[in-house]
Amino acid sequence: MTDTIAFIGLGAMGLPMASNLVRKGFPVIGFDLDRAKLDALVAVGAKPAGSLADAVREAGIVITMLPAPPHVRSVMLSPDGVLAHLRTGGLVIDMSTIDPATTDDVADACRRKGQTFVDAPVGRLVSHAERGESLFMVGASDEGHARALPLLQAMGTSILRCGPEGSGTRTKIVNNYLAIVGAQLTAEALLLGTKLGLNVATMRDVAGGTTATNGQLMINFPSKVLKGDTAPGFTIDLAHKDLMLALAAASQQRLGLPVGQAAASALGAARGGDYAGRDFSALLDYACEIAGVAPPRLSLQAS
Ligand code: NAD
Repeated sequence: MTDTIAFIGLGAMGLPMASNLVRKGFPVIGFDLDRAKLDALVAVGAKPAGSLADAVREAGIVITMLPAPPHVRSVMLSPDGVLAHLRTGGLVIDMSTIDPATTDDVADACRRKGQTFVDAPVGRLVSHAERGESLFMVGASDEGHARALPLLQAMGTSILRCGPEGSGTRTKIVNNYLAIVGAQLTAEALLLGTKLGLNVATMRDVAGGTTATNGQLMINFPSKVLKGDTAPGFTIDLAHKDLMLALAAASQQRLGLPVGQAAASALGAARGGDYAGRDFSALLDYACEIAGVAPPRLSLQAS
């Protein structure tokens, strides 16, 4: 009999991932501060919890999918948090994108309490999570990896082991550095092309056939902003958080990341207003707005 899974954090990513666990037959008890998100998980068959403590007390496994380091620290380590209520010998999987220091602190706290800890941050988009096609970057002991694997396989198609506890988080920071700087670079290139009078579908086809190709241009932008859809997805606010995680990690290692610094300025300005909550592909619309250029859309043109 599989242990009950307490799934904490049912936002844009957490809800579809938890829903996949439910659909594949795992017993799930959900908790989110936002009742509407919890109700959405209950609608697919999960049990609701009235509090974090209630969820964890019923479970042998805890999965967290929370926005940023302070949320993870508080949910895991506060006096009424996960480690205060999980029975010894449990499994804790944090899938949030956070900084290495927080991951290392939570891993140490788990070890001291006799819990197995796995960091398994997630790659790809919300649409992949909905289809159970996420990619996981796993930091785990052999035992942690073996225990987490069936759960991760129920939510994703690529389970990549990066090393011991903490290495999933470190890998995710590097991965998102590339993805987010790529989004800003793609936005700037499409702005320039549009201002020069070029067709966005042609720009995509040309760049897609050369070394200029990238996932933002070929996958993310066409499925979001270029269709006129800037609902998140992955918000500019969270993208900015991840870029700052990379810059902080670089600073600690005495590395300069000049291109990343420039991208951080652009995202930092974009998140000042209502762009903060839009999909990160809307960096294109923000760049166009500043330049006074009508943002290009694929649906208006032959693709
Ligand atoms: P989100 O803001 O949509 O969801 C976060 C959820 O956590 C919200 O529903 C919020 O109510 C809940 N929450 C916050 N504090 C809580 C607490 N103390 N107890 C219970 N619930 C709490 O964020 P998201 O887009 O789902 O992202 C979650 C994490 O996954 C982030 O670290 C993000 O960087 C990462 N990520 C996101 C994407 C994406 O495309 N959205 C992709 C990969 C990774």
